[in-house]
Amino acid sequence: MDHSIQTSNSWRNKVIMKIAYDAKVCIHAGNCVNNLPAVFKIVNEQLVIDPKGASEAEIRQTVASCPSGALQIADTDMS
Ligand code: SF4
Repeated sequence: MDHSIQTSNSWRNKVIMKIAYDAKVCIHAGNCVNNLPAVFKIVNEQLVIDPKGASEAEIRQTVASCPSGALQIADTDMS
């Protein structure tokens, strides 16, 4: 399941930040849902990601703290 938001890393570059979640890798440590509940939510026992729920920096920090690597960010430079 991928979730993308458009971000900007400078006044001229446009970057698409894609958040990927791999349920097979997740160890259900809960870091994401505890750290950023407005972005990472459990709905019907599935992880739902709403990238509009926090700033890009907060999302990057939470993804980096995922202990299993189930959450990953891929940036695509669109400029
Ligand atoms: S932080 Fe990573 S391992 Fe923990 S629940 Fe979220 S996706 Fe799963």
